[in-house]
Amino acid sequence: MSENESTPWQQAEAWEGKCQRCGEESVWHTMSWFNTELICDPCDKAEWVHPDFAFVKQVDFLYLTKKREYNYPGPGWPGVDGRLSEELKTALQEELEFEWGEEE
Ligand SMILES: [Zn+2]
Repeated sequence: MSENESTPWQQAEAWEGKCQRCGEESVWHTMSWFNTELICDPCDKAEWVHPDFAFVKQVDFLYLTKKREYNYPGPGWPGVDGRLSEELKTALQEELEFEWGEEE
């Protein structure tokens, strides 16, 4: 890491052939929706079926459209079996002024 402060997107360019979440070698990668990790295909698929995925996509969309915030790093990856905390979700809804009523 350089002595300059680096943005999440600069870190994102640092793909070194290994998934930053599970450590598996991979030729393919994408950025996580939940944080700035560069992840492999199985980790990406695990995000898409995560119960908070739709919420995270909505938050990402609203940061872009409402706040013009292109460097939002995401709320953090809670793990395959974890969930974003209600406190965090409430805070994001208040900050971005939206309702989220699709919880089971
Ligand atoms: Zn992975």
